[in-house]
Amino acid sequence: MSTIPPEPGFAPEPDVPSIRVGASACLLGEPVRYDGSHRRDRYVTDVLARHFAFVPVCPETECGLGVPRPSMRLVGDPDEPDSWRLTVPSTGADHTERMLAWARTRLDGLAGENLCGFIFKSKSPSSGMERVAVFRPGLPQPVKRGKGLFAREFLRRFPTVPAEEEGRLNDPALRENFVERVFALHRWRSLLAAGLTPGGLVDFHTRHKLLVRAHSPQLYRELGAFVARAATPAGFAEPATVAADYEAALMRALAVRATPKKHADVLLHVLGHFKKRLEADEKREFLETVEAYKLGHVPLIVPVTLANHYVRKYAEPYLARQHYLRPHPAELALRNHA
Ligand code: SF4
Repeated sequence: MSTIPPEPGFAPEPDVPSIRVGASACLLGEPVRYDGSHRRDRYVTDVLARHFAFVPVCPETECGLGVPRPSMRLVGDPDEPDSWRLTVPSTGADHTERMLAWARTRLDGLAGENLCGFIFKSKSPSSGMERVAVFRPGLPQPVKRGKGLFAREFLRRFPTVPAEEEGRLNDPALRENFVERVFALHRWRSLLAAGLTPGGLVDFHTRHKLLVRAHSPQLYRELGAFVARAATPAGFAEPATVAADYEAALMRALAVRATPKKHADVLLHVLGHFKKRLEADEKREFLETVEAYKLGHVPLIVPVTLANHYVRKYAEPYLARQHYLRPHPAELALRNHA
């Protein structure tokens, strides 16, 4: 008779969240905007804060501009990020050098915070992550292709750290992708903190195979080849390089959007592990559920829940350890949209 294994994949978070995620301070409710207001985002403060320890950052107040302060804008060539200047239209003041000097020091400090994500305030000439207005000298209409100066520097310094804006987190697919990447990076960084060994890398990669495959079958193959080359019994030739390269490739793969077709392919692969054990009607039910998901009739959580049920019922050890089946806490309800 089969024994029921522990819940696969996700281990519950402790009461005090240990996953550190940066956030624009005004999104956390701090009254730091130019007019003394805030832009508290309830999803960030009331939902995500149960799982993430937020590290607030307000570039404009922290670089010494105070509250209240005149509003600012970016001026420059929209296609030349290094040309962008942070200016005050009402006075003509230019705070670019002040902001960049502060950002260098602040980013050095954040490097020690082990951030596994960052949520930026949209549209801000300091904090916006994309589509920030850039005014061309002498022209009244901006081009919305910029990044806030701090966000630009952050993304250059920490290219593997998942980053999103609060508005984009209202999109269920973008939200799930962001949270999934934060949890994956946290698991990876926890492994690094414990000491990376060839066996540890192989085990980590094995547990993330289906998750990566749901995003990019091509990068899944490339990552597998990378691990096979790097994790030799003799150890790593360059451990720091292996760790950096794997992290970059993993986060690049998980950033690729997972589609219903890719999820369905992974779920059929899951079914293959039970080929000889599922009853005929169980197999049929699974196939029908995957098809219903693919057609958009039910959310991803439906076939995944069924897969988890069979994993428990038939004690399938490889699948029980796959983070794909439980990549983040169920209470976040991230796979509940059709
Ligand atoms: S958008 Fe950025 S700079 Fe502006 S108040 Fe919020 S945290 Fe501060």
